[in-house]
Amino acid sequence: MRTLVTNGHIITAVDDYYADIRIIDGIITDIGRGLNDPEAEVIDAAGRLVLPGGVDPHTHLENPSGSTMTSDTFLTGSRAAAVGGTTTLIDFAKQNKGETLHAAYDTWQDKARHRTCIDYGFHIIVVEADEARLEEVPDLIAAGVTSVKMYMAYRGRMMVDDGTLFRTMLAFKAHGGLVALHAENGDVIDVLVRQAVAAGKISPKYHAMTRPPILEAEAVHRAICIAEVAESPVYFVHLSSRQALEELQRGRDRGLPVFAETCPHYLVLDESRYEAPGFEGAKYVLTPPLRSVEHQEALWRGVRAGDIAVISTDHCPFCFAGQKTLGQDDFSKIPNGGPGIEHRLALIYNAGVHGGRISPHQFVDLIATQPAKIFGLFPRKGTLAVGSDGDLVIFDPDRPCTISASTHVMNVDYSMYEGMDVRGSVDEVLLRGKPIVRARSYVGQPGDGQYIPRQRFRM
Ligand SMILES: [Zn+2]
Repeated sequence: MRTLVTNGHIITAVDDYYADIRIIDGIITDIGRGLNDPEAEVIDAAGRLVLPGGVDPHTHLENPSGSTMTSDTFLTGSRAAAVGGTTTLIDFAKQNKGETLHAAYDTWQDKARHRTCIDYGFHIIVVEADEARLEEVPDLIAAGVTSVKMYMAYRGRMMVDDGTLFRTMLAFKAHGGLVALHAENGDVIDVLVRQAVAAGKISPKYHAMTRPPILEAEAVHRAICIAEVAESPVYFVHLSSRQALEELQRGRDRGLPVFAETCPHYLVLDESRYEAPGFEGAKYVLTPPLRSVEHQEALWRGVRAGDIAVISTDHCPFCFAGQKTLGQDDFSKIPNGGPGIEHRLALIYNAGVHGGRISPHQFVDLIATQPAKIFGLFPRKGTLAVGSDGDLVIFDPDRPCTISASTHVMNVDYSMYEGMDVRGSVDEVLLRGKPIVRARSYVGQPGDGQYIPRQRFRM
């Protein structure tokens, strides 16, 4: 299979030039001016940007949560990702209590195999880690699962204590793995939530009020201290507050290998959404919660300064009707999470680049290059270079678009950005040289995506 993308304005994390790109059998073989290939399918990118395909390292597809399950499958969620310009996702294989890590890995491979529309990998979520479980770590890392996620929140369900966190860190670190953490003080939040519900404070806004920023900052601080003792790198998922960012910056200033991502909803939305009438605020019940504008501005400064390296989606969709409404009478029963896999590039290009906050190169770095580097996919993914996979996004930086549940591809009945006008649109997407989005419509096949074993952490 041969594809030739001509006349593109190529933007990577470091480059800015005009050229043609030839892809043969999935791999970029040539980048140059005036390339010719009579056998190739030619796509004219004139007037538009050519970017590396997006890498989204934080999604929850077909993920059981309490009595329900996220509404996007590997098929529907990865198709929406493709339409939004993401060509690689990393999902979470979640260990159930009493289960081996390999069983979790096998379960998620079975969900994704033959159905996923873009390339994919897995982190493992560890909820219990006795000696036998940690003996599985070398094999998992050899299989390309080179990162582990643990929760410092969700007491009684997924939360690990500090000892488990430390032992798991040591085990992954010893074999070249990276530890990713959901940082919030789960014990204290658990008390705050119980108190609120007992006092009859049951509406969605109390989700936010029972998870104050200081409890995120405390967990980031504690985790950095534990990681320093373990001599382990650590990556904070979905950083949401100024105080947590300050703890991260203190760790980085000490020279520690600590990294963080944030998500579009923390950069574009704020806590005023919880004041929506009726039960509407439940659409924004995700964790950590949306914060005030003050935090939003701090996060943008962290993004611009490079302390926040990655923008992921934390795509964790639940329909409003029938799923979010499980918590109609008690906010603590609302499934936590929101949909976002489809609009990451457009939202961040619009708010970041058009908003004058980041350069186009920083944009590519945040949505593709850094996640590929941190999670062991670079240079196969995350850039445009000879020898890299032919994952390309042809992006029209000026085309306007209105985000709406009535037009989105995700399998969920609402959008957190309903009615929002953004400028910048994903026109065409190639996955290893195969067009999977043409003229903004999905044209690929379920199963186009391949499992990508990831390399060990190095930085
Ligand atoms: Zn998540």
